[in-house]
Amino acid sequence: MSSEDQTALEALNFANLGLSPKVLSAVVDAGYTTPTPIQAGAIPHALQGKDVLGIAQTGTGKTASFVLPMLTRLEKGRARARMPRTLILEPTRELAAQVEENFVRYGKNHRLNIALLIGGVSFDDQEKKLERGADVLIATPGRLLDHFERGKLLLTGVEILVIDEADRMLDMGFIPDIERICKLIPFTRQTLFFSATMPPEITKLTEQFLHAPVRIEVSRAATTATNIVQRLVKSGSKPWEKRAVLRELIRSEADSLKNAIIFCNRKVDVSELFRSLIKYDFDAGALHGDMDQRARMTMLSNFRDGRLKLLVASDVAARGLDIPDVSHVFNFDVPIHAEDYVHRIGRTGRAGRSGKSFTIATKSDTKNVDAIEKLIGQKIEWHDGDLSTIFTSEGEEEQPRRGRAKARGEKRGEKRDRKPRGERHATPPVEPTAEDVAEQPSLVPAEVIEARRQRKQAIRSENSQRKSGPEEPGREERPARNDRPHRRRDDEANTVVGFGDDMPAFMKVAVKV
Ligand code: AMP
Repeated sequence: MSSEDQTALEALNFANLGLSPKVLSAVVDAGYTTPTPIQAGAIPHALQGKDVLGIAQTGTGKTASFVLPMLTRLEKGRARARMPRTLILEPTRELAAQVEENFVRYGKNHRLNIALLIGGVSFDDQEKKLERGADVLIATPGRLLDHFERGKLLLTGVEILVIDEADRMLDMGFIPDIERICKLIPFTRQTLFFSATMPPEITKLTEQFLHAPVRIEVSRAATTATNIVQRLVKSGSKPWEKRAVLRELIRSEADSLKNAIIFCNRKVDVSELFRSLIKYDFDAGALHGDMDQRARMTMLSNFRDGRLKLLVASDVAARGLDIPDVSHVFNFDVPIHAEDYVHRIGRTGRAGRSGKSFTIATKSDTKNVDAIEKLIGQKIEWHDGDLSTIFTSEGEEEQPRRGRAKARGEKRGEKRDRKPRGERHATPPVEPTAEDVAEQPSLVPAEVIEARRQRKQAIRSENSQRKSGPEEPGREERPARNDRPHRRRDDEANTVVGFGDDMPAFMKVAVKV
């Protein structure tokens, strides 16, 4: 880092960065007094028109590090119809919307036209905004190229290009689109480029499209903040066992849990976990790539505004989202890519606050946990004993029903250590009715309602097959009888000795002699 950068960092005062009075006043109104390192490092160079390569992840204040100098520079000049003056490329719609919010907040003393080009919303409104002339155009690559191909947009007037979350763009397969867009913009533009990590493909891209950039690296992508308490939590490997562990954790953290993001590796698990949490009366919402834009935005704003406590999300849906002040992160699954762990837990402990992260780990996760510990350069403590102390249900689940008591080492007639009667027969959690759902349509996307309906039907038909007595809580979590590994054959079913495992409860009540 040059001595100039060092001075800027040491000054750590917005007034010293060269921002315009209008911008400074908006920053003061936003309540920020001290620039973050990426802001102190990038803003002076961005104001001088230099290319910047910022290696910083979300949560470091990187958005303001390009929005503030852009606002200052946009004070001179005017936009022309269909010729945006600046272009910001974002990998996801939510990130694009978030950047727009930043422009609105910090640009409150400016009269700028801001256009947001994202998928999932109508082309017409977006075209109107382009027609009026956009000072700031914030777009996802696909939708931008759609407009370009329709002839609604000229990129030859772009003076500043921002490529944000470049490594995310790479993950999502946007690099060819980015290359194409870069070639449509004049060579003389200024480019501000941000990425949390620098894989070779991204380095190549910067070599191709940046001119003598000033490199500012605020923290290694592999570092995790020290103000985040990280814990591993042991679990059996069955999804329902993991769900039970999660519920227990959420309950035990109740006092300190203000709100939490719960990460799953696959979007199908996001839906499944979301439905289960709702069923158990948790205040939960879901965010994954298959939800329509409106539902995603509503879910997100409910979570941000504190109307929703738990947000179940996939990596793609949640990466880069700015949700300040999340008290907890739960990894329902250990992430397959170690870097995702860093991104996930970075959702908590923002802006110096403290945060907690719990990662539910099963025996099959050992390799991935090792990779994470290697990447972050530290061992993660176990919350309540490591996996060697875990009782797994695998053995039990794989037993045919008749043989289970034997497998548990119980002698015939011996009383099994079970929950107290009251608890055993507790009322099962009530699934929200169609009316409940209709009351809060903004919270529950249509697909989820449909999935719930189907699931309810499946549970009902399974129950009628069982013709069993009162359901125990969590029974729905067990694999369907027919899915169990050693399914009882019909002929076996007819030869059960005595009551088998289906002995009525009254037979097991201890008798006073
Ligand atoms: P970002 O990394 O851009 O997603 O920003 C992370 C969070 O930090 C956002 O909620 C910002 O509002 C907040 N933030 C940005 N700059 C500052 C600052 N200088 N001081 C405190 N918080 C900030």
